[in-house]
Amino acid sequence: SSLIKNIPLAPADKILGLTSEFNHDQNNKKVNLTVGIYKDAFGKVTPFPSVRQAQNLLNKNHSNSKYNNLSYLPITGCKDFETNVTNFLFNDSINKPTLIEDNRISFIQTLSGTGAISIASTFITKFLSNEIIIPNYSWANHSNILQKNGFKNNINHYPYYDPITGKLSINKWKQYLRSTHSSKSTMPRSILLHASCHNPTGVDPTLKQWEEIIDIIHELKMIPIIDMAYQGLETGNLFQDCQLLKLCLDESRYPKGWKNGLFLCQSFAKNMGLYGERVGSLSIVLPPGQEEGSPESVMKDKINSQLKRIVRGMYSSPPGYGSKIANIILSEPDLKLRWIKDVKFMVDRLNQVRLMLYERLNWNDLINNELIMGCLFH
Ligand code: PMP
Repeated sequence: SSLIKNIPLAPADKILGLTSEFNHDQNNKKVNLTVGIYKDAFGKVTPFPSVRQAQNLLNKNHSNSKYNNLSYLPITGCKDFETNVTNFLFNDSINKPTLIEDNRISFIQTLSGTGAISIASTFITKFLSNEIIIPNYSWANHSNILQKNGFKNNINHYPYYDPITGKLSINKWKQYLRSTHSSKSTMPRSILLHASCHNPTGVDPTLKQWEEIIDIIHELKMIPIIDMAYQGLETGNLFQDCQLLKLCLDESRYPKGWKNGLFLCQSFAKNMGLYGERVGSLSIVLPPGQEEGSPESVMKDKINSQLKRIVRGMYSSPPGYGSKIANIILSEPDLKLRWIKDVKFMVDRLNQVRLMLYERLNWNDLINNELIMGCLFH
């Protein structure tokens, strides 16, 4: 018998599988709440005004080779993108420009947030850690990405959300971190944290709760991986949504930084509406302090060289178009302001639509409908 004929059907992706069921559903009152894509009042995915302007600039300047270069990008993305994005993340968002100046950010452009998590996972399991804990619940694709990129079956879940109360399980979370810590283990554990708009519960810790959690994570020398897929979508303000990142990199609280680095996986899919263009980044924030003979710049070069090796063997180099759009928006002050307003507009409208949906739902029917309650928690 033929091997290829015996390949079994793989189970559908939990989220995208629901989309396919949605497409087949004949009910004309159906509403698709599965994949997170922002649509306008006509149900269309239209570019933000700032993105449209950047596209126009790109088209107008077609004779300018800076804009109209269809060549390959370097393995880890282009230098302009690194300059613009690290400035946006570490200067504009959390006001820590010294991290950039001191060569403490090892940065690569990635295939959006998913690509950033994949590379982080491959890198971490190659050099630093072989176990990761993620929240219960988490984005359904997290364990899939982490499993396929090195963590294999060493993925555990920390208590996060209590579906009975609809609140954060902060005490259980803290207890779990301590009770499952092994001081004998030679390798640190990694922990995945959602920066804002926790997917799927929508429940985020307060700053005070983050402080309690991050203190423990730091004390236990864990490796934080921050998934920032929704910067700006919580409050409507791109910079206010960075409190977790800001706290983790607060030198007065953690003067020695993160012994084994902090991994920031960031995406422009949602906050620039660049979903299909796959624009995002991975920043590894290195610990401070010049250990003799190993200044930060040397550490950074070594880490960059390893990231390059991983990317080269995986997809060779990232796509160009979306990163050019992001570059224009982040480097032209007027466009940047326009973008900040676009994000605010989107979030205000999202909140209005959510409220309207909430008011129209018949909650008694929903609570008795196991299928719908099941979907809510996937
Ligand atoms: N993390 C979370 C929590 C997400 O919800 C998503 C997208 N749904 C991502 C990461 C990655 O998105 P992308 O690869 O499109 O940037």
